[in-house]
Amino acid sequence: MTIHMMNCFTCNARIPRGLQSGTSSLLVETDQGLVLVDTGLGADEYVHRSFVLELTRIVMIAPLDPEEAAVRQVVRLGYKPEDVRHIVLTHMHFDHAGGLPDFPWAKVHVHRCEYEAFTGRIHRWTDLAYIRRHIAHGPDWVFYDATGEKWYDFDAIRLPFQPEMWLIPLFGHTAGHCGVAIRDGGRWLFQASDAASFAENAPLWLVRFALGPHQPRLRQFAAAHPEVQLMMGHMELGRFEENKS
Ligand SMILES: [Zn+2]
Repeated sequence: MTIHMMNCFTCNARIPRGLQSGTSSLLVETDQGLVLVDTGLGADEYVHRSFVLELTRIVMIAPLDPEEAAVRQVVRLGYKPEDVRHIVLTHMHFDHAGGLPDFPWAKVHVHRCEYEAFTGRIHRWTDLAYIRRHIAHGPDWVFYDATGEKWYDFDAIRLPFQPEMWLIPLFGHTAGHCGVAIRDGGRWLFQASDAASFAENAPLWLVRFALGPHQPRLRQFAAAHPEVQLMMGHMELGRFEENKS
């Protein structure tokens, strides 16, 4: 079973200059076909840029290379787009779910609270990053609610795939934001997505404001569990190179 780590949206800081980051998606070979964890920007975003993307480009430098779209990368890895049978979303912001229309046949797995936040009224400023047209094709949804299960000491919901995968509710950045843990042989890959920042020196008040309350616990957990590789929704570009095999 192979797990590919892909950068599906390069987004570089204006300040400090030189801080280059990518948006992570995982392509996982499972017993149920390919599972894509977050889609990054969709191919259409490069043609019809959303208002939110234009806003993002005021504060960040986004080169906008259409070759970064997950659907293009899946093909370059030697698969067919139709091989992606399932998509698991950490949350439904445009930079994580914008590629849904590129895989209209895939079942889309998401926490029910996240879907309700996406389709409901705007409650918080981060809800502005939801773009309705990303689900206009009517995905085949699978919704998840709390089950009382645990992964380590995190509340968790088992996903129906082998290798073992868990949805880990980490609400805060959005109303239904989740991490995803994937067994990788004797190790774990823990995609904490937008519940943690890769910028180690970012002030904690700012991290709490933008990403929610989980970062200190996640960092402590990763330090105590060397068998767990913690990753984030946005990471230094170099980390994507490290993981290329
Ligand atoms: Zn987000």
